[in-house]
Amino acid sequence: MARPRELPAALEVVRDAAILAGEIRRATGSEAFLKSDRSPVTVADFAVQALVAHRLSVEFPDDPLVAEEDSSPLRTADGRGFLAPILDVVRRWQPRLDADRLLSAIDRGAGSPGGRFWTLDPIDGTEGFIRDGQYVVALALVEQGRPEIGILGCPRWAPLAARGDAARVTGALVFAGRGRGAFSMPLADSAEPTPLHVSAVDTPASARVLRSFESRHIDLDMFNRIVEALAVKAPPALMDSQAKHAVLAAGEGDLLLRVPARPDFRDTIWDQAAGTVILEEAGGRVTDLRGAALDFSAGRLLSGNYGVVASNGHLHAAALDAIGRLGGLRHAHDDRSPESGDVIGER
Ligand code: AMP
Ligand code: MG
Repeated sequence: MARPRELPAALEVVRDAAILAGEIRRATGSEAFLKSDRSPVTVADFAVQALVAHRLSVEFPDDPLVAEEDSSPLRTADGRGFLAPILDVVRRWQPRLDADRLLSAIDRGAGSPGGRFWTLDPIDGTEGFIRDGQYVVALALVEQGRPEIGILGCPRWAPLAARGDAARVTGALVFAGRGRGAFSMPLADSAEPTPLHVSAVDTPASARVLRSFESRHIDLDMFNRIVEALAVKAPPALMDSQAKHAVLAAGEGDLLLRVPARPDFRDTIWDQAAGTVILEEAGGRVTDLRGAALDFSAGRLLSGNYGVVASNGHLHAAALDAIGRLGGLRHAHDDRSPESGDVIGER
C-alpha cells in the first residue's frame, strides 16, 4: 500500500513536468526527430524524463524508475544538437544540472520493475504533442504488480465541469491513490481537488466510445466490429494518450477499446499504469480483452495481457461479451497461427 508521502511529492513533480512540456510545446512547436525504431521523439520527451527522474532520485532514492526514453538518441550525430535546448529548459527548474547529469538522469529510467517502482511516460501521446492533439505526462507508483498511485499531467485537457466559460483549457492534474479516490485539479494553481466519478451509462447503444487517434496503433477493423456488435450509435471519439482514461474517469466518456494492431503487440506498462488506477478509483474497470486484470509485474511490457478494455464499469461485461462473441482473441492465444498475420496486418 502506498505511503502518504508519495502522492503529494509525485504530484508536484508531475505538475512541474506538465507545465514544462506545455511551455516547450508553445516555444518550439512540433520539432521532432526520429528514434531508431522510427517513432517520433521531441525535446519535451527528454526534458520531462530528465526532470522527473532527477526529482524522484532526490525524493525516493531507493525506488527504481522504469521510463520510456534513454539517452542513446542524444548521443548520436543527429541527436547531439538537441542536448543544448533540453539542458536549457530543464535548468530553469534544476539550475545545477549539467549535460552529464542530465544524461544520467534520463538513464535512471532503465530501472528494473520489481516489487515497488515508479513508471513514467514523459510524453504519452508524442504524436498528439506534435499534431497539437492531446498528450499527458504519466507517472505511476507500482507495488506488487498493481498501480497504487497514478498521476496524469494534462496540459491540454481539463474536466468539462472545471472549464466553466473559459474558452482556453489551461490543463489539469488528474490523480488517484488506491483506496483514496480519483481527483482533478487545475494544472497551474493549487485549487482544491475535485473528486472524479465515472458515468452512469449502462446501455451499450448510448455509449461514448474512445479510441486512439492514430489508427495504426490499433486493429481498426476489429475495433469497428466490436462497436458494431454493441450497436453503439455515436461515432467514436479519437484521442491520443491516457487523456482517454481521464475522460472516462470524469464521466465524459464510457468505454475505451485498445485492440492491438498485431497479434504479438504488447503495451508498455507506462502507457497504462497511471490511467488504470485513476479510472478504477473513479469507479471504472480496466482489464485486457480477455477480461483479465492488467499485470504490471511482468517487466517493461504487459506481457501477460492482450489489449485493453477500460470502462465506466457498467458497460464492461457487455464489451467483453461482444469481444468474446466475435472470436477476436484467437491471436492472443496462438501467435503461431498461420492465418493471424493475414487477418491483422500493420495499418
Ligand atoms: P495512443 O495515444 O492511444 O495512440 O497511445 C499512445 C501510445 O501508443 C504511445 O505512448 C506508444 O507507446 C504506443 N504505441 C506506439 N506504437 C504503437 C503501435 N503500433 N500499437 C500500439 N501502440 C503503440
Ligand atoms: Mg506512451
